[in-house]
Amino acid sequence: QLAERHARKRSALIPILQTVQRDYGEVSQFAMQHIADVLGLHAADVYSVATFYQFINTAPKGKFIIRLSRDMSSMMKGAKTVARQLENDLGIKFGQTTPDGMFTLEWTSCIGMNYQAPAMLINNEVFSNLTPQRAHLIIEDCLQGFRAHRPTLGKIGETYSSALTYSSHEADAGLRNALAMSPAEVAGEVGAAGIRGRGGAGFPTGTKWKLAAEAKGEFKYIVCNADEGEPGTFKDRIILSRYADLVFEGMTIAAYAVGAREGLIYLRAEYTFLRPQLEAALEARRQNGLLGNAILGREGFDFDIRLHMGAGAYVCGEETALIESLEGRRGHPRNRPPYPIDVGLNGMPTVVNNVETLASVSCILGRGAAWFSSIGTERSKGFKLFSVSGDCTRPGVYEFPWGITVEQLLETVGGGNAKAVQVGGYSGQLIPASQFDRRLAYEDLGIGGSVIVYGQDRDMLDVAENYFEFFVDESCGQCTPCRDGNVKLLEGIRALRQGKCTSRYLNELISLCETIQVASKCGLGQLSPNILIAINRHFRDEILARPVVGQH
Ligand code: SF4
Repeated sequence: QLAERHARKRSALIPILQTVQRDYGEVSQFAMQHIADVLGLHAADVYSVATFYQFINTAPKGKFIIRLSRDMSSMMKGAKTVARQLENDLGIKFGQTTPDGMFTLEWTSCIGMNYQAPAMLINNEVFSNLTPQRAHLIIEDCLQGFRAHRPTLGKIGETYSSALTYSSHEADAGLRNALAMSPAEVAGEVGAAGIRGRGGAGFPTGTKWKLAAEAKGEFKYIVCNADEGEPGTFKDRIILSRYADLVFEGMTIAAYAVGAREGLIYLRAEYTFLRPQLEAALEARRQNGLLGNAILGREGFDFDIRLHMGAGAYVCGEETALIESLEGRRGHPRNRPPYPIDVGLNGMPTVVNNVETLASVSCILGRGAAWFSSIGTERSKGFKLFSVSGDCTRPGVYEFPWGITVEQLLETVGGGNAKAVQVGGYSGQLIPASQFDRRLAYEDLGIGGSVIVYGQDRDMLDVAENYFEFFVDESCGQCTPCRDGNVKLLEGIRALRQGKCTSRYLNELISLCETIQVASKCGLGQLSPNILIAINRHFRDEILARPVVGQH
């Protein structure tokens, strides 16, 4: 059915792989050959895609797949002791499956639960605020049937640390106002608001829409990037949990502005538990004339939204890799130009916007560009959500106007005694305490939304090791400097940690960092060395003060 719905195109490949896995527990070689035959692909091609994604099983795994998050917040809050408990209870190591086929234990990258760390997924269920005792109870519960006696400890639980502007948005006021304007006026209003993409890159949204409206193509697409994989980021999950209609409204406004008829939400695999409520919300919008043909009675304005599940690959948060994935390929970033607004999904003009951007656009059209642009700073307009975790007493999602200082943020979240703060996720910047007067704004620190607080006792080489384990795992492998260079940096950091540390060796690692930055194709490789460069700049004395255990 999926193959037919996709006209036997390879865009059906990942949904088919996911369906086979759901029904049979794994995608066997026999299944891959059959899928290849149905889609007219080579079996090796199917294998290559299936093995790229972490959440597609090409070998048998347990009935319960336990994925413990190893993001830095989880590690700081005791993920290793939880890991030991799980290993003891199950009698296996990470990467193994119990002989009875019941449990598989795996580490995974960030699952977007950093403010309630440590956290893990069991199949698609999230368990947070874990302790060894809770982990033990959850395993017992699984053994007793899971469904019959669901765990009540450590579930997601939504806590908010500040009131969000979204909660005061009048339902679909933005869409109604947009339809009272011409499409060009809508793009102009978004441009006048001055909003820049909230995913991290900060490209002006109004400009993107204007260019997409002018681009030539038989079809145009609106893609919502809900692949929130940057470690330490969970704000988009909060928006999708509570304010999904704002995102759908924003996509519909974007479709009107650029002339698109089809929208897709690329939802990360770790958020599969959100799927039923998002599907229900989409269906309710269709029933209410907010999606489908002649939206709100406007003849000729037809637009619908489909949900596409990611399959576990951080690099797919990069917009061209995301498009490759939507087309049924490995998530390999493309060369740019051409940009997606000219040549995107299926070769057609495509607007890719982040969840928060789309939700904010609904508010802009609802209240007007002047209201939005009156908030923030000269080059950073509006309000912004920050996901805060780590060594602070009040982790959570906070809304601030652009322009507050790191120090002001830390006071609000109870992180006053911090040694350093990582802003913008692992690819972002490490800010030492001496620079806490810096401002969160594009004039200074323009970030996607992740803030991880490091207390006075944190060893910054621990932090760097965790980051490079992540980058090594998540590199797509296309370019050698990123694929092999990050492995070398990880080895180097481990050598430093073991005391094989000299000034000369540290300088060599920094030189390698610079090579990786200039020779890598996408943001992952260009930004992964940031952490080591920052530690060398701000904490070099601390590293070199470690006792040297032999020459390296
Ligand atoms: Fe892939 Fe890394 Fe190259 Fe990006 S920089 S394309 S993640 S190998």
